[in-house]
Amino acid sequence: MQMKKMEKRIKAIKAKLALIGEMRPGSLNEQLTVCGRSNCRCMAAKRPRKHGPYYQLSYVHQGKSTSQFIQKEWVGAVRSQLANYKHFKALTAEWVDIRSNPCQGKAPGRQRASQERNSCTQTKTACY
Ligand SMILES: [Zn+2]
Repeated sequence: MQMKKMEKRIKAIKAKLALIGEMRPGSLNEQLTVCGRSNCRCMAAKRPRKHGPYYQLSYVHQGKSTSQFIQKEWVGAVRSQLANYKHFKALTAEWVDIRSNPCQGKAPGRQRASQERNSCTQTKTACY
């Protein structure tokens, strides 16, 4: 019965994963910059106006922290790719969670998972 519930949950996760579009990891930051030219608006003594915003994507690739500028017209697409990646990570984490829990399938939600963990420790069973 619980096993069935688990399989059902995983099936639902797989279905959601199949629908995820383009994705990429990282975070997008908006930046305003000062160019340093003394006659530029960004250096004006009164109400300086900085350049930008520029969009910088930061991510870790092969263990190295990297960043790249994103053109304004791509910001919307990049934002949705980042959101897709978060969704992907959450789904796979849930999948792994279900599979790693020896109290099989009793904990579909995060909150209940932690309650489960507590009760397992209290009863000194092998869970977690
Ligand atoms: Zn400037």
